[in-house]
Amino acid sequence: MIKVVSTVCETRAQVKEWKNQGLTVGLVPTMGYLHEGHQSLIKKAVEENDRVVVSVFVNPIQFAPNEDLETYPRDLEADKRLCDSTGADLIFHPTPDEMYPDGFSTHIQMDNLTKELCGKTRPTHFGGVCTVVGKLFNIVQPDKAYFGQKDAQQLAIIKRMVRDLNFDIEIVGCPIIREPDGLAKSSRNTYLNADERKAALILSKAIKLGEELVADGERNAQTVIKAMTDKINTEPLARIDYVNVVDALSIEPLDVVKGEVLVAIAVYIGKTRLIDNFITAI
Ligand code: AMP
Repeated sequence: MIKVVSTVCETRAQVKEWKNQGLTVGLVPTMGYLHEGHQSLIKKAVEENDRVVVSVFVNPIQFAPNEDLETYPRDLEADKRLCDSTGADLIFHPTPDEMYPDGFSTHIQMDNLTKELCGKTRPTHFGGVCTVVGKLFNIVQPDKAYFGQKDAQQLAIIKRMVRDLNFDIEIVGCPIIREPDGLAKSSRNTYLNADERKAALILSKAIKLGEELVADGERNAQTVIKAMTDKINTEPLARIDYVNVVDALSIEPLDVVKGEVLVAIAVYIGKTRLIDNFITAI
């Protein structure tokens, strides 16, 4: 069975041993409750590196007080089985105290990219993400790290952080993995009851509509936003947080669908906030 360690010290010792043998190391940061989306990242990491570390840590500082830190699903035994069968070598599963000991007071704060999209409703979220990912990068010192396009803003932010702070790590983005009916896989999908699960399909339907409009030549961002908004509003259980069209690298809002474009949505289905997106290069 795969080795699970909970301290920075043990993780460093293991990685050091591998590096001394000349082996390359990939890192897949996660909050656990792993599904096929996470698994696709781990698979890619296993293909591209000699050894793979998966971190499983529900990072308290990326949750606001009104969010779902306490109820976020956890199942380390299932995570171990998935990592093991996918070929990962080590799980780093620290406690909050190990990551944020008494007196912890240094944070990574990004000025741009963090204000739009999810940053509007979750103003403290990306500071927490950058801080924990920066720490994981320093602890594991991987050659490559793997992130899903499911969290497209997060991926853009991590790429910018690596560039800004000179982390010597290649960031690999991986495509969104979906359920057979189109819903993007997410640990938070477990919050949905049967009616909500059906209603949640409105996200991927709106994404598909947006993709079709752009593929058919629509270049007016507002037209795309309006069509997707109207589609989502046909679902009574859905409440829109945002529907937006931004530059995929800078996360700046766009009027014209041109360049590398991220079309991203966040929608509450009941109490559960879900996100989805597509990226297109024109
Ligand atoms: P999380 O555990 O939700 O923090 O996600 C850990 C990593 O898995 C992030 O880089 C996510 O973008 C990625 N991920 C989560 N869901 C999916 C999915 N459905 N498809 C691809 N990647 C995903």
